[in-house]
Amino acid sequence: MTANCRFCGAPLAMTLVDFGATPLANSYLPGPDAIAFERSFPLHVMVCNSCWLVQTTETVPAEVIFDHGYAYLSSYSDGWVEHAKTYAEEMVKRLALDEQSRVIEIASNDGYLLQHFLAMGVPVLGVEPAGHAAEIAKAKGIPTRVAFFGEETARAVRAEGICGDLMTANNVLAHVPDIRDFARGIQVLLAESGIVTFEFPHLADLIEHAQFDTIYHEHYSYLSLAFVERLLRAVGLEVFDVETLATHGGSLRVFAGHTCVHAETGAVQAVRAREEEMLLTTPAGYLGFPPRVESLVNGLLSFLQTAKREGRRVAGYGAAAKGNTFLNVAGIETSLMEFVVDRNPEKQGMLLPGSHIPVRPVDEIMSAKPDYLVILPWNIAPEIIAQQTCIRDWGGQFVTAVPELRVL
Ligand SMILES: [Zn+2]
Repeated sequence: MTANCRFCGAPLAMTLVDFGATPLANSYLPGPDAIAFERSFPLHVMVCNSCWLVQTTETVPAEVIFDHGYAYLSSYSDGWVEHAKTYAEEMVKRLALDEQSRVIEIASNDGYLLQHFLAMGVPVLGVEPAGHAAEIAKAKGIPTRVAFFGEETARAVRAEGICGDLMTANNVLAHVPDIRDFARGIQVLLAESGIVTFEFPHLADLIEHAQFDTIYHEHYSYLSLAFVERLLRAVGLEVFDVETLATHGGSLRVFAGHTCVHAETGAVQAVRAREEEMLLTTPAGYLGFPPRVESLVNGLLSFLQTAKREGRRVAGYGAAAKGNTFLNVAGIETSLMEFVVDRNPEKQGMLLPGSHIPVRPVDEIMSAKPDYLVILPWNIAPEIIAQQTCIRDWGGQFVTAVPELRVL
């Protein structure tokens, strides 16, 4: 079966990785009875040799993805809420936002970001497809539309006389099936001199640090600045500034506006130069990736097998999407990892998709006293290590597996 690029339509010919059929990384199972009904979908990532969008070949329908009530709630991560607060304060200052302005966030989740603008007296509007998260936001007093964002939703909001002086879409661009329609929607809803910021994990870091576990079905696109500039230009927007962030193992925060409104900063050229040096718009930029993935998978697997032979107890921390990709690609199951703990009460008592490892409350660490605690969402490892110093009491050690196996 040949697939075509979801942006430019060119036939895709170059595979980055093909993980075969795996369950959706966020479809936790309520119990053992559900295992028989678990569904798997191909997870194959290809590179477009025409526009250089790195992408999954299959689009799992949004109804399937949102068909579970355990949606990710941003407020469960302290680090993320802090990141959001800093951003809000910076943007209010930079754009001189006040009670006459409006901030529109796409994929506003449970209001983790907009609540900070609201507290500073700036009117806000959230657009969020997951009804559960939207209800939590509304309860905080944050006006929220329950909708998938695209040109149609944008036109409907604009028709009510609403537009955004600041629009923001954090960690959503990569999750949009029709990325061009999404960008058009931004163009429609952005005020004439308005600014839109996008945050997304940077493809350069994915490649450089072998972050293969950020690949999962709901993550359709793996974005470079080069591609995002191409996408935005196609709808009449242009990038004029960019910041590099440590979030998700290395992200970009791109600032864009309507064409010819804002002056470009030197930071844009610096990121372009890094991508050029990494050859991300040539096939050569991708050749070293598959062997590194194989070596990481084999490294963790043999570490866990050795731990088992030595009679060590192993638990995981964080029932996150990226952990699920790693566990499923490596074929790690309960024989090698007894359980995983997570702070989100909605995930506790469930089984991880594919590996069927049970999810327990964080307290379980204290009672089980594992010798090794494998931190699955390595991007928040420092936060977790600081919270779980208790494992040192019984000589326990932390393990992270990306970008290399580390026992801390
Ligand atoms: Zn393409």
